[in-house]
Amino acid sequence: MEYRSITEKISLIQQNKISLIENVKQFLNRIDERKNLNAFNFVFGDEAINSAKVIEQKIKSGKHGRLAGAVIAIKDVLAYKNHPLTCSSKILEDFTSLYTATAVQKLLDEDAIIIGKTNCDEFAMGSSNENSAFGPVLNPIDESRVPGGSSGGSAAAVAANLCDISLGTDTGGSIRQPAAFCGIYGLKPTYGRVSRFGLTAFASSFDTIGPFAKNIDDIALTLNIISGRDENDSTSVESEPIKYPIENNAVKKIKIGLPKEYFGEGLDNEIRDSIYFLMGTLKLKGFEVEEISLPMTEYNIATYYILTTAEASSNLARYDGARYGYRSKNSSTLEEMYVDSRTEGFGDEVKRRIMLGTYVLSSGYFDAYYRKAQKVRRLIKEDFDKAFSVVDVILTPTTPTAAFKIGEKSNDPLQMYLSDIYTTSANLAGIPGLNIPIEKSKDGLPIGLQILANRFEEEKLFGLAKEIIF
Ligand code: GLN
Repeated sequence: MEYRSITEKISLIQQNKISLIENVKQFLNRIDERKNLNAFNFVFGDEAINSAKVIEQKIKSGKHGRLAGAVIAIKDVLAYKNHPLTCSSKILEDFTSLYTATAVQKLLDEDAIIIGKTNCDEFAMGSSNENSAFGPVLNPIDESRVPGGSSGGSAAAVAANLCDISLGTDTGGSIRQPAAFCGIYGLKPTYGRVSRFGLTAFASSFDTIGPFAKNIDDIALTLNIISGRDENDSTSVESEPIKYPIENNAVKKIKIGLPKEYFGEGLDNEIRDSIYFLMGTLKLKGFEVEEISLPMTEYNIATYYILTTAEASSNLARYDGARYGYRSKNSSTLEEMYVDSRTEGFGDEVKRRIMLGTYVLSSGYFDAYYRKAQKVRRLIKEDFDKAFSVVDVILTPTTPTAAFKIGEKSNDPLQMYLSDIYTTSANLAGIPGLNIPIEKSKDGLPIGLQILANRFEEEKLFGLAKEIIF
């Protein structure tokens, strides 16, 4: 049975047109049928069916939460009490969460069903989901291609109909880029809107948690539920809920900016053409569209990789083999145990980031790299402040190319890093960004549009998304 959104699913269950238990079983069957995608690290089948039984009754009696019966997969970097938490790393292969992430608890409190934990790049570091101790995830649209990363499993799971909604995390594009590669919606919220408590830290001043879905209403609903101040995360804040359901025509008068730096060299022609075509349509609908400039754009990638690796090298110091996680069995001294556990437990990309981060923080280079990058981050943020004093939203491609082939960039870290060229800026500036699937390329691959808005202005993203529905 088809349904357009979770709200509609709930009403179909109330009318006895859908059995929630059957619905959950269908998802479990499809997960099994598409096992080769490798989207899940863990599936909680029996638990999901048991919850379905309880929640179906709640729905029928009208005493249910706003996400009742929504089948949700969560990225395996989020804590869920008494369930495994591996971050797709060998170093946490046997680790079980002792508590539940605030965002996940909020889903459970609204009667969502957590169906499993999704595969991702190790510690969320990557753009292709090839850096996982569980092996790569395949793109459900074309299995010879990557689903994007780092939340590749979460994106693939929604795109392949293995769940209704999923949670991912976005530090530099890890929700928007895989959403673009898999042809679905993916939202990186404003930094601070969603508590990071229970999210395994990668780069704490960049990390955000956000939803993937096939429709914009489910994105808005999920965001409303996971948002809010949490005393366990001092960077979280209370925010106005988004009006839900989203109103059509809510954004008729908004002004759209196209940053010229995002349409230059390196951008695939088909992507450029489809976005320009879409702009034409929006103009015909009465939107004002103007070219703007974000002059600091060329420094995004360098700034992002200096600051995030610095934060990662500090955050990942806790995996020392002593407190939790993998411990090497072959070492004879404490020092050796630290070194061996980290050498054997971390994958290559994570080690590369720790080394880069340690280097930029080392006393001889701190001023040249880390301090300078902090200053540039401020300038990048000011670029956006200026732009948002003129326009309401900024439209860009989400990625420079459509999904690439598995293995195509895995030996070239710089090429891999460049696939985040349009997404890192939102994390540097702390602003929200949404991927909207707009079209298919001539090879049948999804093309994504990114909309950016000022801090806490997600509502503008959703309103405009409603105007762009295909
Ligand atoms: N691909 C980017 C990186 O490798 C972004 C990762 C993320 O957002 N978690 O750092």
